[in-house]
Amino acid sequence: MPVSGSEIVKMLPGRKPCKDCGLPTCFAFAMKLVSGGATVDKCPYLSEEVKAKLADLLAPPIRLVSIGRGEDKLQIGNEEVIYRHEKTFIHPPGIALLISDRESEASIGEKIRKIKEFKFPWIGLNLKADLVAPSFESQDRNRYLALVKKLYESLETGMVLISEDMDALFSARDICGDRNPLLYPITKENLNRAIPKIKEKPTPIGIRGEDIEGLISLTTKLKDAGIEDLVLDAGSKSLMEAMKDQTFIRRAALKQNFRPLGYPTIAFPCFMARDGLKEILAASLLMIKYAGIVVLSDFEQSSLLPLLVQRLNIYTDPRFPLAVEEKYYEIGEPDEGSPVMITSNWALTYFIVASAIESTKISSYLCVKDTEGLGVLTGWAAGKFSGDSISAFINKCGIADRVKQKKLVIPGKVARIKGELEDALPGWEIVVGPREATGLLSFLPEFIKG
Ligand code: SF4
Repeated sequence: MPVSGSEIVKMLPGRKPCKDCGLPTCFAFAMKLVSGGATVDKCPYLSEEVKAKLADLLAPPIRLVSIGRGEDKLQIGNEEVIYRHEKTFIHPPGIALLISDRESEASIGEKIRKIKEFKFPWIGLNLKADLVAPSFESQDRNRYLALVKKLYESLETGMVLISEDMDALFSARDICGDRNPLLYPITKENLNRAIPKIKEKPTPIGIRGEDIEGLISLTTKLKDAGIEDLVLDAGSKSLMEAMKDQTFIRRAALKQNFRPLGYPTIAFPCFMARDGLKEILAASLLMIKYAGIVVLSDFEQSSLLPLLVQRLNIYTDPRFPLAVEEKYYEIGEPDEGSPVMITSNWALTYFIVASAIESTKISSYLCVKDTEGLGVLTGWAAGKFSGDSISAFINKCGIADRVKQKKLVIPGKVARIKGELEDALPGWEIVVGPREATGLLSFLPEFIKG
């Protein structure tokens, strides 16, 4: 339940509009605070105590936690809704690959290869697993630390360090601390010993309670100790239990604004199923029902890709279609004699047309007109793919300077704009292309002959 402006205004000084915060009234300032457009330090009359209370009230209901560094940094949490259709889910869950220190060198090498190679370009994105999770199971600390070192040196990926042995856990943290690893598990048994070590070199902490109540007690103690980058595990043993716990945590954080559970979560489908397919299915359910990280025992391309695509679909903002930038794109190595085509900037349209052109092996220019992510026909119906708007785009995008022959191929679905476009774009010949992108396979070879 987000805090309201009227709740916040009660905590402000209420001086006759002094406007020192740059806003006309305290109420206007309160509204700005709630919307994230202002920070508490803009009002010079707030005591430190009130500032701290306001910061707590205004914090997102689920804390944003980062794991890893640089381009491979994973951010989880900061979610605002229970159901995706209410607004959007924001930070896609991380997919982690578990590697036990009891595995053979060959198996470890194979998993490193999978993390490096299983990357899938997908409508302008690069889909991949996000984390590697070395697990201490051998009871041989040196062996575990050697594994952590090997993974640290072989991969840029963020890490989840898993060890019940605190010495091994914090020694592993010292190896890869600059990569901001998640340390797991902190439990009620090791908490007091762990707190000073965590504070020495702060990184995110995965905490495991024996149940939800146990988690609440742990997060409260860690928060009191000033440690807040937490990821929660309610200790769920089965998929059913995990789904129930994940849902409870999400609802408590968002509906009740219950701070002790306002953190992202981690789930272990790797321990919930014995066969690979069931494990992937469990991961897929847990990604829908709110896990911030899912840990898998292994994957193949055929099992990882569907999971990545599902994640993409769930975490794509349903309010905005995926779109690409408005400009002309070079496909192959086009020159001044190459064909010029135009389409809309709905990502799916762009990639279908671009890959059809690539299949012909005829280097071309593909002009992509901004239709606010609508397809060709819908864009035309909405007035965003009309003769006038296309001519304005063609004149400003610079394609005219790149080609000698001024011929523009338009999609067959909007053949009706040919005359309008010829009037609006003097000097260009407008050619009606195929209705579907697949038609380019036969159309383009004939077109370049003419
Ligand atoms: Fe109110 Fe503070 Fe703004 Fe003055 S500076 S109007 S007291 S919020």
